[in-house]
Amino acid sequence: MTMLHPFTTTCGACGRDSKQLKLMSTSACGSGDLDLRPPEMQRSSMPAWLEFCPHCGYAAKEIAVCQEATTAVVNTPEYQRYAKDRTLPHLAPRFICAGMLAEASGDLYAAGINFVRAAWVFDDEQKDGGSREWRQRAATVMKPRVMDGPLEIEEQLVVTAQWVDCLRRTGQFAEGLEVIEILLAREISDDLRALLTYQRSLTNGCDTACHLSSEAFRKEVREQ
Ligand SMILES: [Zn+2]
Repeated sequence: MTMLHPFTTTCGACGRDSKQLKLMSTSACGSGDLDLRPPEMQRSSMPAWLEFCPHCGYAAKEIAVCQEATTAVVNTPEYQRYAKDRTLPHLAPRFICAGMLAEASGDLYAAGINFVRAAWVFDDEQKDGGSREWRQRAATVMKPRVMDGPLEIEEQLVVTAQWVDCLRRTGQFAEGLEVIEILLAREISDDLRALLTYQRSLTNGCDTACHLSSEAFRKEVREQ
């Protein structure tokens, strides 16, 4: 069961107060998706994954903390365009904005993850254009992170699984197959090898649908 706790905090970027949600507990039952999106109930706890200031649009794990360089990015017109865009799904601006801040600071791993999370929000509202746009942007920032490494084992699994899935879900099959072969030739974990092997079979079939990660670990798939 998911438990969220509302609380008030002061934004480090604009100094104004707002209500936020803290994730007290959640649970996950069943398989997540191939891009590591968690199953329910954890899936529905997204409103508490990041804090988002409704006044200036600053998005972070804790908006009370803000560096001067971050405030400068928050105040740019491009950032404000996304932060204040009421035509976007409700949770999309916080993940897009957190991704933009991470990208500006050079943290391409966090940038990619937040752009993928933005795509999940569009998925939930069946807004294919937004899903595609943010998966493409995630793929762009994740590419150098994966190809130029080095990566910790857990980081390698997350960023690689998400990047390869973004390429397939946006129909970039030729690049997807090329990078899957490069990655399979590297020293990687058994779990990542299973995910990539299954992604190769889906990509060969020009499949752009969402799939469960459990499908990659079935015996017949692992032996391909
Ligand atoms: Zn603020």
